Amino acid sequence: MLIISQKLIDEIKKQGEEGYPYEICGFLVGKMDYKTDTREALEVYQVENQNKERANDRFEIDPKDYLKVENYADNKGLQIVGIYHTHPDHPDRPSQTDLMFAQPDLSYIIMSIENGKYKSFKSWVLDLDENKFKEEKVKII
Ligand SMILES: [Zn+2]
Repeated sequence: MLIISQKLIDEIKKQGEEGYPYEICGFLVGKMDYKTDTREALEVYQVENQNKERANDRFEIDPKDYLKVENYADNKGLQIVGIYHTHPDHPDRPSQTDLMFAQPDLSYIIMSIENGKYKSFKSWVLDLDENKFKEEKVKII
């Protein structure tokens, strides 16, 4: 389960609408409880989409940005609990590429932006046994 505030969802919406028609991406920083498989997002941290050629339907995160956000979280006693990105004019379901680069134990928020406006979002987690994404419950606080 992912716990996130409406305020953070609104921030991702804003980033997604401003970044349209390109995919925007970033990290969810917060707290992870492995025992209950619960991730609580406390901050969002947008990073640059490194895929310039196909930014309308691909996103790529620079490993340097990954490290930067990891250190940032570390200094606050937090950790990376998820990754978010948008799907401009596409549904909020993971693509084959999303699956290829997915890591376990993280929440993947995918937000659909249609014609520059927020449409919907879902959160997904990688199911390692079946090697596919499963939708997870989102608790908005
Ligand atoms: Zn995607």
